[in-house]
Amino acid sequence: MTPFRLSSQIKAAANQLGFDVCGIASIVQLETHKKYLDNWLGQNYHGRMGYMANHRQKRIDPGLLVPGARSVVVVAMNYYPGTRQPDNTHYKIARYAYGRDYHLLIRQKLESLAATITETNGPHHYRVFTDSAPVMERAWAIEAGLGQTGKNTCLIIPKKGSYYFLGELITSVELQPDQPFKKDLCGTCTRCMEACPTGAIVLPGVLDARRCISYLTIELKDSIPEEFLKNLNGWIFGCDICQEACPHNKHAKPHENDYLRPLEAISTWGNSQWETLQREVYAHALKKEGSPLARASYNKLTENISMVRNNLNGEDANSQ
Ligand code: SF4
Ligand code: SF4
Repeated sequence: MTPFRLSSQIKAAANQLGFDVCGIASIVQLETHKKYLDNWLGQNYHGRMGYMANHRQKRIDPGLLVPGARSVVVVAMNYYPGTRQPDNTHYKIARYAYGRDYHLLIRQKLESLAATITETNGPHHYRVFTDSAPVMERAWAIEAGLGQTGKNTCLIIPKKGSYYFLGELITSVELQPDQPFKKDLCGTCTRCMEACPTGAIVLPGVLDARRCISYLTIELKDSIPEEFLKNLNGWIFGCDICQEACPHNKHAKPHENDYLRPLEAISTWGNSQWETLQREVYAHALKKEGSPLARASYNKLTENISMVRNNLNGEDANSQ
């Protein structure tokens, strides 16, 4: 089968599997992105995420991940929820974490996509990834023509926005590549930089993770430094402020994916449930349900809740 025909079939199969966007890149050395990563790591912007500094060579050379790698299929899946957390809570969760953990879902679907290639074209070497350290997924998404990173560092997909999960299938099969995305989608806009309450976007497209609420509430195992406590803005797991500020998300359409439907804890819990969260309830209503919130330990999550609670002004605290 020709690379062109096989690529068309892969895109059709990706669509059938529920991916909203699919693009293809040929394997290239990601030199520009490597320079950016080296500078970022050099500034220590990754904080305690030591794993970001690992696998440097694998990140720019997918041939080290998959023998004979020739193509990267990049997929995106909408996670924008149709509902919000209830009005009687000021404890905010990032939207990507409303439903069940997406890693398993995306990986399973990418495995199905790989099986399609095997059925149509024969055996191939491949690996699937989502949110995985050795793969520079936004760089590959740009190479595969899906969109461009904004000043907030999120991948923006034209006419769709940035509330999308990304996944990659690296394969030894030769496919027809799409045109890399070259256009700047931000122009003179700086809304995300102005909206960020902790000044984490230190330069356009440069994120100091050590200042980012997402890092502070999830990745950082220690307590959140004092200087940021007043600016958490209610976020106890992740933060969506710079995406909410982005005009590309103004018309975000809700997904219709049952797996990603907000869990009961997210769609019904008010302040009192969060504030009195017991270990057993965390285990049952979050961990067992497959919530991404379980990525933060019970101690971390409840500490985040306490920190937000202690730093709410009296008016807010009394109004609930
Ligand atoms: S996620 Fe929140 S804290 Fe992090 S850069 Fe965006 S607005 Fe700032
Ligand atoms: S808010 Fe503006 S500057 Fe920031 S990512 Fe969106 S378009 Fe770009």
